[in-house]
Amino acid sequence: MKIGVYPGSFDPFTIGHLEVLKSAAGLFDIVYVAVLNNTAKSPVFGVEERMEMIRRVIETEAFENVRAGSFNGLLVDYAQSIDAQYIIRGLRAITDFEYEFQIDAVNRHLKPEIRTVYFMATPAHSFLSSSSVREIGEWGGSIEGLVPHCNTDYIRERLARQK
Ligand code: ADP
Repeated sequence: MKIGVYPGSFDPFTIGHLEVLKSAAGLFDIVYVAVLNNTAKSPVFGVEERMEMIRRVIETEAFENVRAGSFNGLLVDYAQSIDAQYIIRGLRAITDFEYEFQIDAVNRHLKPEIRTVYFMATPAHSFLSSSSVREIGEWGGSIEGLVPHCNTDYIRERLARQK
């Protein structure tokens, strides 16, 4: 059984993340979308909130092999705890590559048997990040089409309150 873990801040989950998840769900038997529970990053959305939005996406997209989870500590330890042999990440630009290259080296140092696979962003989504969604939403701009439709109203209202 091929199990993958797609880790991230998902603050919030965007359609760029969804694109990666769709590809991964087609490739692996089970995919865990794992929200990083890291207070040092001071996320806008709480862990439970982020997981709830991911659960809504799973339900709306009728993904049968995708689960929502969360972790703190080392990703490779979490991956091992759920029997995942693969880490899934997305690549938008060269700047992502630098960062991912570094994380991969560390993860492989810790657990060489766990490998990372990468999906290139769809060109139309290569500009899209959670931070741009937060910024647009906090200033009252339209986030329509940037986040999964099932979460648009929730995120819009939540970010408007944030300001
Ligand atoms: P992190 O803080 O771990 O980078 P993110 O939630 O920002 O968490 O991103 C999670 C993963 O999804 C990363 O591998 C990131 O490169 C990828 N990703 C983010 N936005 C996009 C996008 N628009 N298209 C493809 N991959 C993306």
